[in-house]
Amino acid sequence: MRIYKVGGAVRDRLLGKPVTDIDWVVVGATTEEMLAKGFRPVGADFPVFLHPKSGEEYALARTERKSGRGYGGFTFHASPEVTLEEDLIRRDLTINAMAEDDQQNLTDPYHGQRDLEARLLRHVSPAFAEDPLRVLRVARFAARYAGLGFTVAPETLELMRQLSESGELEALTAERSWKEISRALMEDQPQVFIEVLRECGALKVLMPEVDALFGVPQPEAHHPEIDTGVHTLSVLEQAARHKQPLTVRWACLLHDLGKGLTPEAEWPRHIAHEHKGLKLIKAVNERFKAPKDCQELALLVGEYHTHGHRALELKPSTLLELLQSFDIYRRPQRFEEFIAACEMDARGRKGLEQRSYPQADYLRGAANAARAVAVQPLLDKGFKGPELGEAIKRERLKALKAYKDAASA
Ligand code: ATP
Ligand code: MG
Repeated sequence: MRIYKVGGAVRDRLLGKPVTDIDWVVVGATTEEMLAKGFRPVGADFPVFLHPKSGEEYALARTERKSGRGYGGFTFHASPEVTLEEDLIRRDLTINAMAEDDQQNLTDPYHGQRDLEARLLRHVSPAFAEDPLRVLRVARFAARYAGLGFTVAPETLELMRQLSESGELEALTAERSWKEISRALMEDQPQVFIEVLRECGALKVLMPEVDALFGVPQPEAHHPEIDTGVHTLSVLEQAARHKQPLTVRWACLLHDLGKGLTPEAEWPRHIAHEHKGLKLIKAVNERFKAPKDCQELALLVGEYHTHGHRALELKPSTLLELLQSFDIYRRPQRFEEFIAACEMDARGRKGLEQRSYPQADYLRGAANAARAVAVQPLLDKGFKGPELGEAIKRERLKALKAYKDAASA
């Protein structure tokens, strides 16, 4: 048997990028031989094994043929006769379809090196269209390597467009889609992921609620960029620049969905978009089965981001309601993430990227003031049950009034 490094490890070494995980392909071996060498099979009918020591993935060279819709609709053929070139041709991009032996000799039948130099994300063969997940993968790689100058080859974008129109994207499972979306959002330029999806028509299928924001105007006084879609991309860009976690990035992407529902007659104003957007945010959350923390933060940011911006003007009672909605006493981290998302929203506007955001510290201070209210003295006074709850609330309100007065003095 012959063993080669393939995929990302080869690509990233040639790009001079750190290699994190290594995928291997094994040519000329049978399942029985792999098992005899101590490799552990990954799945029952999948010719992929884990190395007994390193735990890295070793796949038998295989060919694939589409036999139905979605990912389940694939038949594999793995046998010792399958060549390296046959295995490489089933891969998504030319830059991912190179192999390397232990002497670093490169096998590059589909000119991945040429495309690396040309900074092009190009599909290997027309079989690209057999797995719709590749649309998301290409957009993700575009987001990752945009900083190096990579773009999607026009003919690949055309294939992605056809795939998006074919209805195949709808066959993707929530799990496979979310894995790509969440990884793409954590790249350096996540806005490029959304841009590429939009360009090929996939955004309209996957997240029509986000797609609908493009072409929707906002008041120029607050939004010099005017377009709500452009604003959303800038917010995402800021979130990445400030190294925000996935929860915040997800909330940034979805915070303004309500603006897509505003009747044109009301443009550029978007009265109550925060509340109107909630059902759309919920729908997107559920479509991709986003993790609970992502879902929660997106809904809270959607509902309260304008409260964040107006923090310094909020009445103490409104401020208290905001803090209670976030359950800041038990979930301090989540409130920090809300503040971060608001700040990214404020900076994701043309020419305002460097603005200061005093609301952030003001909100933190308010949360601390409310948290500082001690419960013991109220217990000592004999409050219990619902009365205790009311008393705590009154004390917190008092604390917030004092906080606001001190801040504006
Ligand atoms: P990363 O750095 O994100 O791990 P990678 O290129 O190694 O990038 P993997 O998802 O680890 O990506 O997959 C390893 C290789 O398997 C890819 O480089 C590609 O050749 C191939 N591959 C993975 N998924 C697909 C797919 N859906 N369609 C075609 N080829 C794929
Ligand atoms: Mg990999």
